[in-house]
Amino acid sequence: MLRIALDMDDVLADTHGKLVKIILKDFDTSLTEKDLNGASLRSLLHPKQYKKVVGVLNAPGFFRDIPVMKDAVEVVRELSGYYEIFVASAAMEFRNSLIDKFDWLDEHFPFIHWKNRVLCGDKSILKAHYLIDDHVFNLANFSGKGILFNAPHNLEDTRFDRVMNWKEVGERFLGNSRDRV
Ligand SMILES: [Mg+2]
Repeated sequence: MLRIALDMDDVLADTHGKLVKIILKDFDTSLTEKDLNGASLRSLLHPKQYKKVVGVLNAPGFFRDIPVMKDAVEVVRELSGYYEIFVASAAMEFRNSLIDKFDWLDEHFPFIHWKNRVLCGDKSILKAHYLIDDHVFNLANFSGKGILFNAPHNLEDTRFDRVMNWKEVGERFLGNSRDRV
């Protein structure tokens, strides 16, 4: 069975969307929602404000209530009938994210067994046929085929096959098999 590794932030979870809401509400900024969705937050925000973003990411609970990306649950459930699905998320940068991510997966993806959850540091350790991720640096270090999930911080990249949303992931990996299920 082919193995697909799925990233969490900005792939399964709309982490950028949650950050944008917080920035618009709590930060002193003239940037609009459209601005914040048009490039990476690091490139858009003043270094002091970006530091504040890092503080938000470090706060206990931040990763616990992130909205699920549209269609992700349905497509991942379908994929798991045809592929071996792993969740692979870099969780070591923000210590509180570990337990939040575990609980988040239990809530939204209870059908993904704990043995298929890899909360890791550097993703080059992964061994899978595919990795779906929003960060080019993760795909560049991956030994299998990297698929780039569209995100404001990767709009310029042309090195990897790009998917715009979960519907496209379903079409790419399930194709006509969807008619049979
Ligand atoms: Mg990510």
